[in-house]
Amino acid sequence: MPELPECEASRKAVEAGALNRTIEGFEEHNTIHLELPGPQDRDRLKGHQFTETHRHGKHIFAGSKSGPWIAVHLGMTGSLKTFDAPRDLPDYAHFIIRFEGDRRLIYYNPRKFGWMRVIDDPHDWIANKDLGPDAMEIGDNMFADRIGGSRGTVKSALLDQKKLAGVGNLWADEALYRAGIGPEVKGTELGSDRIATLYKEMRASLQGVLDVNADYGKLPGDWLIHNREEGADCPRCGGTITKKTVGGRTAYFCPDYQEAA
Ligand SMILES: [Zn+2]
Repeated sequence: MPELPECEASRKAVEAGALNRTIEGFEEHNTIHLELPGPQDRDRLKGHQFTETHRHGKHIFAGSKSGPWIAVHLGMTGSLKTFDAPRDLPDYAHFIIRFEGDRRLIYYNPRKFGWMRVIDDPHDWIANKDLGPDAMEIGDNMFADRIGGSRGTVKSALLDQKKLAGVGNLWADEALYRAGIGPEVKGTELGSDRIATLYKEMRASLQGVLDVNADYGKLPGDWLIHNREEGADCPRCGGTITKKTVGGRTAYFCPDYQEAA
């Protein structure tokens, strides 16, 4: 599932290829599973240009000072890319924004739960959604309050987009692994030192993925992502990677390396 770094890669693609071009039209292919702008919203976009982008947690935005904006959620599997017609349309293109000339913005999303909406302003929209601060923007004190104050498991707290936005299953597991904290530890069981370590490691995990533009093959070999398999050898301590459902999500962790309380 696209999390903060994967969404940032899509935002960068929009920024690099879809700004300052007039929107002329739209195309869609096999989009019955997606929520997309209706005819009125498409009319709102037509004739406008995107001049800036924004990302908050797992939401991507493109628009201009006076609007309108698109807000995009990539769901379980989506991404945004640009390409130039008349090259053959990639078969993964589900929704296409057609700009003047050959440029196209493609919203690829083969599974449910993805959407694109037309909105007036991303900052108002974020405030109304009650989303927490972006995981790369949140300060250490607020992180400590929000995660350390959670009576639920620390894993569930990291995934709660109202506490902080952008962390999903994959990078929550990675952050906990690096911090040596078991996924079932309660937020309130973490002392200030371990919360500070988790904050540092969450940022380091996300920054590491941002630095390689979410190309996982370029991540160092001692990352959990390369060993997310029950029974795999832990690259840090020689223990065994274990799989367990925590808060309704599948957690991978090393019980030897990650303390249970
Ligand atoms: Zn280990």
